[in-house]
Amino acid sequence: MDEIAAANGVTNRVTHLVYSYHHADHVGAASLFGGDVARIGHEETKRLLERDGDPARPLPEVTFADTYTLEVGGERVELAWHGPNHSPDNIYIHFPGHDTLMFIDVVNASWVPIYNVNLSEDVIGYMGAPAIALSCPWTHFMRWDRNTAERGRERILRERTCWPGPYPCKAYGVSDRSAS
Ligand SMILES: [Zn+2]
Repeated sequence: MDEIAAANGVTNRVTHLVYSYHHADHVGAASLFGGDVARIGHEETKRLLERDGDPARPLPEVTFADTYTLEVGGERVELAWHGPNHSPDNIYIHFPGHDTLMFIDVVNASWVPIYNVNLSEDVIGYMGAPAIALSCPWTHFMRWDRNTAERGRERILRERTCWPGPYPCKAYGVSDRSAS
C-alpha cells in the first residue's frame, strides 16, 4: 500500500474501510485499523457481524440499504446492493473515476463455478449477479483473486459463470442516499 500511494503521490493514511461483505476471509483483519477509520458496509453486513461477534471484524459505523456514495480524497466510490448472491450482503463497489468495478467472489478466475457455485448462499442471485455487474460501466474488474481481469469483460463474466446470455439490461442505480 505504501508503494502504491507513493507512486501516485497520495497519502498512505487510511481513513475509510469499505466492507465488501461480512465473511472473515475478506474483512477478518478489519480490526487492525483500530478506531481511526470509518467502516462502511451494507446494513445486512452489520447484522451478520453482530451475530458473529468476532472482534477481528468490528461493526461498520456507517450502513446503507440500497446505495451509498463515498467521496473522499477527491475520489468517488459508489456502493450498491442489488440483492443476495454469494452472500446476503455482497455489494458492488464502483470507482467511476477509474472505470473500475470491484465485485467479490462471484467471478473467480480459473474456477468452474458451476461445480460448487463458490459456496454461494443464494444460487439464483449468484447466477444473475454477472448481468448486474455488466450493466454498470467499467473497463477494469477487481475481484478477490490475484489474476487481473482487463480482457473482454463480457467474455470473462460469461465464461466464469457458465451463463448463456444474453444478459438482461438492468439500470445501475446510483444515488446520494445518505447513510442509515
Ligand atoms: Zn465468501
